[in-house]
Amino acid sequence: VKLLGLRLEATPSAARVVCRVEWEDSERPAFDLFFETPEESSADLSPNPNAFLLGAILPAFRRQERRISLEGPVCPMLRDGLYAAMAILKGWYAPKRLPTVIEPSAGFRAADRAAVPMSALFLTAGVDSLYSLWKNRQRYPRGHAASFRHAIYIPSFAFPEEFPSDRTRDLARRQLRSITAVARAEGLRLLTVTTNLRRLDPDVYFTAREGLSAILASAAHLFSKTLTSAVIAPALPATNLRPDGDHPLLGPLYSTGALRVTGDRTLSSRLERLRRIAGWETALANLFVCFEGPLPEGSANCGRCEKCLRTMTELLVCEVLDHCRTFPKRNVEVEEIEVMSVGYHPEMFPTYWAPLVEPLEALGRSDLAGAIARKLRMARGRAFLNSRREAIRRFDRDRLGGAIRSASRAARGLPLDRGAP
Ligand SMILES: [Zn+2]
Repeated sequence: VKLLGLRLEATPSAARVVCRVEWEDSERPAFDLFFETPEESSADLSPNPNAFLLGAILPAFRRQERRISLEGPVCPMLRDGLYAAMAILKGWYAPKRLPTVIEPSAGFRAADRAAVPMSALFLTAGVDSLYSLWKNRQRYPRGHAASFRHAIYIPSFAFPEEFPSDRTRDLARRQLRSITAVARAEGLRLLTVTTNLRRLDPDVYFTAREGLSAILASAAHLFSKTLTSAVIAPALPATNLRPDGDHPLLGPLYSTGALRVTGDRTLSSRLERLRRIAGWETALANLFVCFEGPLPEGSANCGRCEKCLRTMTELLVCEVLDHCRTFPKRNVEVEEIEVMSVGYHPEMFPTYWAPLVEPLEALGRSDLAGAIARKLRMARGRAFLNSRREAIRRFDRDRLGGAIRSASRAARGLPLDRGAP
């Protein structure tokens, strides 16, 4: 893949960095990749080749592009990190993948670090990033190099449509309202990055399993004139790690000499993190977890989807659901648990819901505890079937060269594409 014409374009209300993406080994359309930030942060934005490289290399690696060529120098620390990351992802998911070779036109040169150390957090106003912010405020006095002074926010990250739907626009508006309020309360300068980066690989499973940290890190490196470190709040605690796009092993590999990327180190589960921030007014007033919409004006979360019900149940367990103003209801009903789906990531359902059963019993809510236990049995059954299906798919790919897949597609009259390895 070639990244051509890296440049900075200023408009009256924003600054934009752009390059042309041309695929070489995969039949995919060329397009202009951009990152944009509003006027208030436009002076901090630069067309940093390291950022573009980071954003594009894992989609290129997944599509088995032989090389990624780009203009300008690349930091040798990032080069080494990216080859290590590709080796890790290969080991996790695709033993036959070959690394995509990094070819910068100006060779490898260490990136210059900003004179004043400055830390940023990727903020979504969800449980994980609010907890990382809370912890940072407990650990470091304001003014300390590690104390967060900036928050990075990528609107519509989960739904990167070219023409955003009503739902996507509503979601971005709700999330921005929460994030702006948290940033104001905590004295964080907000760096908003709008990008079409996910056009490189819109597959949500690719982002979740492989690309997440690299995508986030690429946005941070655009601000390396100002920032020297950026922290990703991971979804999973260090006690329960598995291969994942925000695995804490990956983030540091996306560092340069100018900017260090880290996954926040935490041993706490989601429930434990929520328990910690349950007494923090800023969190309770702004907690944003819901991807549904559009919602009526003024609401942050729908209160009906799996993620809302899970968070509300957790808040109930922490005995603060009454005080959290971002949900439309102050209680969770058995019927709501019974009819909810198992969410966007069914394999994670037991991880998130199982720890809630015992505390609910202790609170005298055995009705809810029972409903959750029944739902867990169902979800585990489904996860088992999915894992068998995945094992067959892998055996077919690695041992039979995709014969079952091809036969199945032929039987359904579908074209025999090679698919991504
Ligand atoms: Zn919801």
